[in-house]
Order: sequence, then C-alpha cells, then structure tokens
Amino acid sequence: MLQVFLDMLYPVRCPVCDEIVMPKGERICSLCKSKLKYISEPRCKKCSKPIEVEEEEYCSDCLRKEYQFIKGFALWIYDEHMKKSISDFKYYNKKENAKFYIQEIIGRYGKTIEKISPDVLVPVPIHKSKHGERGYNQADILAKGLGKELGLPVLSHLLIRNKKTLPQKQLSDKERLRNLRKAFEFNHEIYQRYGKEINKVLLVDDIYTTGSTIEACSNVLINQKIKEVYFVTLCIGKGF
Ligand SMILES: [Zn+2]
Ligand SMILES: [Zn+2]
Repeated sequence: MLQVFLDMLYPVRCPVCDEIVMPKGERICSLCKSKLKYISEPRCKKCSKPIEVEEEEYCSDCLRKEYQFIKGFALWIYDEHMKKSISDFKYYNKKENAKFYIQEIIGRYGKTIEKISPDVLVPVPIHKSKHGERGYNQADILAKGLGKELGLPVLSHLLIRNKKTLPQKQLSDKERLRNLRKAFEFNHEIYQRYGKEINKVLLVDDIYTTGSTIEACSNVLINQKIKEVYFVTLCIGKGF
C-alpha cells in the first residue's frame, strides 16, 4: 500500500531524459537504454577502456604508465547521454539515478566482483567543501548501494581528500599526477575502528578518464600495505 502511494507521489524518472518511466517497474525508458553505449570487447585488459585494435591488450594509458591497481571495470562510454545523467546525479541532487546504475553494475559485474571478493568497498572521496555544497558524495552513494547488494562492507572515509585540487580537465598528464599525489590521505582511525585486516579494496567512482585519480587512491592504499586494489566506475573515456 505504502509503495503504491510512494510510486504515485514519486514516479521513477529516467536517469537519461528525466521523463517518467513507463511501464512501471522499469528504471529507464527503453529508448534511452538503447542509446547508452555499454563497454564491450575489444577493451583494455587492465582498465577496461575500449581499444581500437583487437590485437592490442592494453590501452595507451595502461601501456605507458605502470599503474598499481590490478584491474577495473566500467559500464558505459562517457558520451553526451551519460554526461547529462551523471551531472544530474552529481550536481542536481538526482540521487535516484543510483538505483539504475547499481542495478546495471550488478547485472554486468556482480559475479566478477564476487570472484574478486574484495574485503571492503571504498568510494573515491571528495573534498569536504564540495561535500558541504552538495550534501553528498556521489561515489559514496554508489559504493553503499553496491555494498548492500553484494553484502560487502563499505568504508566511506578510509580515504580522505585533504587538499582542494585544481579541476583536472585543464591539466596535462604530469600535472594531473602532481596535483593528485598529495590530495588523498589514509584514515588510520577508520581502519582501526574497522578492526579487521584489509587486503583487497574495490574503489568506486563515477567516471574514469586517464586513471590518475584511481591511481592516486591506489598508491595511498598500497602504501598502507593493502595488497590489491580494483575499481569499478560508471563511465570511462575511450582508449584511442
Ligand atoms: Zn528516458
Ligand atoms: Zn587501460
């Protein structure tokens, strides 16, 4: 009864076009879903970015840089549809988009994540001033949703973003890394409070572009003797 009432009050809105989704029970319009570009083969064996040539194993970024994370997965190409969807999710309080995102991550990568069997999920943190403006960290919403579905613990504040970094878009690769190197810090208090050994971490974020953010987080974790770091993101750029 309550659910029927809630559905009337708050019908599901499409995570892409924002219209009310029909038929009931769906999380996205079928037309919008057909527009989304799911990552498929050939893709980079490390970061899952689509690559042009099937014979290649890795994208140019993974070839050039010796990333310390083991492997990662993304769902969609970061095209105009996902750009809008994620921007609504991130900046315009459309947190309900997460339900669709999580359902899709579980559908595509649930088994893979179970096989990896991470000890904890950790969202890529945002700086507290951004958290103050928005009231939430989009990556944390994703991590918590995934943790709930997979029955895995989420340590929301194992990593802290301690410095306000420049917007990454305007920077070169080298500058990005320099910019990010000192941006993340390990939260020993949270680790101690958790009380168990952590060997494998699955990082959760919304977008993966060059990999420098995920790598910066991986570095911090590995420096604390965490052995394996994986990641899952909603979107990823192309590897060519
Ligand atoms: Zn739609
Ligand atoms: Zn790659």
